[in-house]
Amino acid sequence: NIEKLSDLEKLAVLGHGNSGTVYKVRHKRSSSIFALKILRFDQNSTLIRQQAAREAEILKCVNSPYIVRCHAVFDSEDDLYFAMEHMERGSLNDVLRVRRILPEHVISGVTQCVLNGLHYLHEMQIVHGDIKPSNLLINAKGDVKIADFGASRVIVGGKQDSYETYMGTCAYMSPERIDPERWGGDADHGFAGDIWSLGVVVLECLVGHYPLIGCGEKPDWAALVCAICFGERFEMPKNASSMIQSFVRRCLEKDWRKRGTVDELLDHPFVSQVGCESRQGVADFALSG
Ligand code: ADP
Ligand code: MG
Repeated sequence: NIEKLSDLEKLAVLGHGNSGTVYKVRHKRSSSIFALKILRFDQNSTLIRQQAAREAEILKCVNSPYIVRCHAVFDSEDDLYFAMEHMERGSLNDVLRVRRILPEHVISGVTQCVLNGLHYLHEMQIVHGDIKPSNLLINAKGDVKIADFGASRVIVGGKQDSYETYMGTCAYMSPERIDPERWGGDADHGFAGDIWSLGVVVLECLVGHYPLIGCGEKPDWAALVCAICFGERFEMPKNASSMIQSFVRRCLEKDWRKRGTVDELLDHPFVSQVGCESRQGVADFALSG
């Protein structure tokens, strides 16, 4: 029911990412609130346009309670606009900045949502390609949804087209994506890479900082690549339950062939059993203070 861009009025900036700015907007006639993501093509690069068009195609065809919904796409000469559902509590990154760590039952709830979203995407042959805290959004009810398909790709007939437009951090990337020759990335279509990224996110929520390198270490490109591809151990708090430890180990298996799949991990006791009754939405932790 958003017919044209001029139906929307900008209220505030919700966030910035690699590709654009996201505004909180109001639909003038209904007064409903949406999030409007604007991708700008200053450089007029065809590659960036192609990736933006891909993001739009994916957003238009996905429909799941675990994926941030896109209500309308508009384009102009220089910009592409996505009108999306507004996620009132911001991103998991915002929550971690305030809370640093989360209790295991809350991490379990977040993980279950993300796995449900990945299950949906992988069934549709879509690799998200950029699972990280700033791309996991939370609404007032505490639902966690996957956002930002700027690095996503659809696997058609077992093949993927290139995605070298991606310019983000490598911190959440899997070993096979960083070094495909060594880890046999050619044979993977990238589904297992989403699982690796989820493992890094889960561990980050548990330890309170980016978990693959030491807390004080400088997270430069070389340190990250080294930790991801060659690091033998990661920090695990002593009081962490055996369930979350085992879950993280299944995600952070360097060899993607041995890594847990979405289906296996949805049945993992950390996801299927932890605090089912006491499970409390992450929304409560999003409140500042
Ligand atoms: P980019 O591709 O530039 O990374 P994102 O889609 O990840 O853009 O959005 C950047 C940031 O904007 C997010 O990390 C989040 O803080 C905020 N944001 C994005 N979409 C929404 C939304 N639907 N509701 C609320 N905040 C959002
Ligand atoms: Mg993003």
